[in-house]
Amino acid sequence: MSGRRRTHVRRCTGPGPCMEVSVIEYTAAHELDHVPKDWKCAKHSAPDEWMTPANRQTTTVLELQPRYLHPSVFRGPEERRLLGYFWGPPGGDPTHGAVSGPGFCALADGFPPGTRLTVTATITLPDTPEDTSP
Ligand SMILES: [Zn+2]
Repeated sequence: MSGRRRTHVRRCTGPGPCMEVSVIEYTAAHELDHVPKDWKCAKHSAPDEWMTPANRQTTTVLELQPRYLHPSVFRGPEERRLLGYFWGPPGGDPTHGAVSGPGFCALADGFPPGTRLTVTATITLPDTPEDTSP
């Protein structure tokens, strides 16, 4: 028997006043045990990636890197077992077998380890900004 669905609301803890919230549905309070109290919206968690008329270009680089099974997943010698190759930030945690966005899709399969994917987004403002005032 399932309990009544409830919502847990977290307000962005980024700097300054921010009205963004995170809403999580749950049925039992213990489901929230793993939910961090501190949460930042997309604008405040990655301010360099937040595009504005003043910040009109961002670039991200992902690298195809090996990912290994956690030793607790298998029994046997202490050797590392390759799970596969995944995209991730260079030197970071490779987690995605496929990455995509508007205009591109890159599967990890078919590229050699060390391949780098550079994604650039550019905002082009109109020559004469449209008047959007009411
Ligand atoms: Zn925020």
